[in-house]
Amino acid sequence: MFDYLIVGAGLSGAVMAERLASQEGKKVLLVDKRSHIGGNTFDHYNDDGLLVHKYGPHIFHTNSKSVFNYLSRFTKWRPYQHRVLASVDGLLVPIPINLNTINELYGLQLNSDEVEGFLAGKAIKKDRILTSEDVVLNTVGKDLYEKFFKGYTKKQWDLDPSELDASVTARIPTRTNRDDRYFADTFQAMPLNGYTRMFEKMLDHPNIKVMLNTDYKEIIDSIEFREMIYTGPIDYYFDNCFGKLPYRSIDFVFETHNEDSFQSTGTVNYPNDQLYTRITEFKYLTGQKSDKTTVVYEYPKAEGDPYYPVPRSENTALYKRYQQLAIKEKNVHFTGRLATYKYYNMDQVVAQSLALFKKLYSPDLIEEEA
Ligand code: FAD
Repeated sequence: MFDYLIVGAGLSGAVMAERLASQEGKKVLLVDKRSHIGGNTFDHYNDDGLLVHKYGPHIFHTNSKSVFNYLSRFTKWRPYQHRVLASVDGLLVPIPINLNTINELYGLQLNSDEVEGFLAGKAIKKDRILTSEDVVLNTVGKDLYEKFFKGYTKKQWDLDPSELDASVTARIPTRTNRDDRYFADTFQAMPLNGYTRMFEKMLDHPNIKVMLNTDYKEIIDSIEFREMIYTGPIDYYFDNCFGKLPYRSIDFVFETHNEDSFQSTGTVNYPNDQLYTRITEFKYLTGQKSDKTTVVYEYPKAEGDPYYPVPRSENTALYKRYQQLAIKEKNVHFTGRLATYKYYNMDQVVAQSLALFKKLYSPDLIEEEA
């Protein structure tokens, strides 16, 4: 008899398993249909001995001290600030757009004040910001929108930015200084020995049993448990009764080169000319030394593993119908990006699971904090 069946050994499931076992002494069965723990953050050493991220580059960043402190129990960190260049008009320029991007692209020598005026002159002001197109036109105008956002969004989502919720492009800032970091968060670091090692430490507890290569539906009738934590796709839980929630998927194509370095920064974006959206070179992220280097190309596609929930109002409405069913489920708790159909960064998923744990075991604390 288990106290908890946890479906999914990604970050959301692993945080719950760790908290329930080590804080509350609960007996936990953690099931994943994949052959490994770690969910989408899983990393491993490839045949050339290079540490790579199987499901695309994962860079840890957060403003939450409590999330960072929590994960620091299971890993040491390597400070790392991610930098991205975009291949536009034959140049490699910083993205998010900053002062250098504008000066290099247009052959100008503006300072911060002047670039503000430059962008204000380009911006096409919108009364209402409803779509991803509105966000960008409203901030930087048509030319930069077409160079950096229109083609990239079409490739990534197979939708025009005018068909996507504002949230997608609103995540990307525009800077009038020379800050070329991709993220501006207080804590930016990579697990020193990789994500999978971090997961191994989290799950190393006698009360946690891990079962891989197993879809939970295969075993649910043959095991006994009191409660369930579900981090898989919410539509699958309900047998897709209202129809499938749409996701974008990606083909990750890895290449190892017999050279020390392939490109000049961690990630280069290709908004316009190629079928892939970006190339990432792992050595920048991991700090590994080798005379070889591995890169990954990302080719977005419609079918395949569910990676990105598609943020459109009709999909949110469909999710809400499933959510209504989820609320009525007794002794089942839904957490994580698939179970709540929302694109979350790693830190947000950790925070979500820590909050669920608090709700289950210290609801008074939440009321006090509120
Ligand atoms: P997942 O990691 O998807 O884990 C869910 C698990 O449930 C999976 O292992 C799955 O196999 C399992 N499962 C599903 N159905 C079943 C079933 N029926 N039975 C058993 N098991 C099941 N975040 C960042 O902070 N920084 C980044 O740089 C970053 N880069 C990203 C790049 C890409 C390409 C993608 C797709 C995401 C990125 N993210 C990034 C987001 C990050 O991957 C997520 O926040 C995190 O992995 C979510 O964890 P999770 O546990 O909710 O989901």
